[in-house]
Amino acid sequence: MAHSQGSNIDTNEGSNDLTGPAATQQSTLELAGVEHTYTSHEKDGPPDVVFISSDEIRLYAHRAQLCEVSNNHFGSLLMPSMANPTPTTIALSEDVYTLSVIFHVIYNASFKPYTPTLEALSNAINALDKYGLRPCSHVSPGSPIFEEVVKFTSRAPLIIYTLGAEHDLFEIAQKASEHLLTYPVNTLSDDIVARVGSVYLQRLFDLHAARIYVLQRLVTQRPDEHKPNTHRGENGCESMQLAWSNATAILILDVNPEILSETIQKHFERFIATLPCAECRNCTESHVREILWKWSITPRSICRDTQDFYSVLSLTN
Ligand SMILES: [Zn+2]
Repeated sequence: MAHSQGSNIDTNEGSNDLTGPAATQQSTLELAGVEHTYTSHEKDGPPDVVFISSDEIRLYAHRAQLCEVSNNHFGSLLMPSMANPTPTTIALSEDVYTLSVIFHVIYNASFKPYTPTLEALSNAINALDKYGLRPCSHVSPGSPIFEEVVKFTSRAPLIIYTLGAEHDLFEIAQKASEHLLTYPVNTLSDDIVARVGSVYLQRLFDLHAARIYVLQRLVTQRPDEHKPNTHRGENGCESMQLAWSNATAILILDVNPEILSETIQKHFERFIATLPCAECRNCTESHVREILWKWSITPRSICRDTQDFYSVLSLTN
C-alpha cells in the first residue's frame, strides 16, 4: 500500500516521533480491529502534528489540512505562531473513537470499512464547533459522516432527531423524523425537549398533526354519485353515501400519522364489497385510488414549511 498521506492513528505507544510508523509505513489505521485509511492532499506531505487521545492513542495529522478546514486553528491549538517544522504532541480530551470521526470529517474521508458507533458519531458532532468546524457545513447530505449517522435513524430515531435538532442539521432530523411517526411526542422528557428546542419540537408536532388532518380531509370527502340507474332513483345513492360516512368514521377512530396505504386500501375494499350497486362500486374504487395516491405523496417527515403537508389537498387527479 502507498505511503500515508493522511492522518493516522498509532497504537504503538513506543513510537513518539513523526519518522515512526505513521510516516514511514502504511497508510492503514488499526482501530477496533479494523483497518481504515484517511486520505489527504499530496501537497501535505508526511504528518507534522501528533495528537494523543484521552485513552492515550496517538493520531498523526497535517497542520495545513487542519488549519484549512478549521476556522479557529483547531481550537486554537495550532495557532500560526506555533507553525514550525518541529513535531508537536498535543493531548486532546476526546477518546480515539471520537477523534477518529473528527479526523474523518477534516479529511472528508470515507469510513469504509470502519463503522463508527453512534456514540462516537454523536460525540464527534458535538465537538466539531470546539475545533472550528461548523456542523451544518460538514454534516451535510452526501458527506461521509452524514451517511454514517443516517444509518442509525431506524434504530435510534429520537437520539438522531435530537442530535440533528441541537445542531440545526435539518436533513438529519428529517431522516429521523420518518421513524418517529408513532412516537408519543407528549411523553418526551424535559431533557429531550430542552435539547430539541422549540423549532424542531414544533416541526415534529406539525408532522403528526398535519398528517392526521390531511388523512381526515381525504377520507371524509365522499365519492361522486353516478347517473340514475335501477339502484339510484331521484334521491341518489343515499345508502352508499351513508355507508361511506360510517366507513370513514371507523377508519378515523384508529387513524395515526403512520397509517399505511395498504391499511386504508383494505379497509375500503371491505366497504366496497358491501355495496349492492356496481356503479357505486366503480365510483368508490376510483375515489379510493385518489385517496391512496394523495396519501402516498403526503410528506412522511418534517418539513420546513407546513404548507407542504396541505398542498396535497388541492391536487386534482
Ligand atoms: Zn349506485
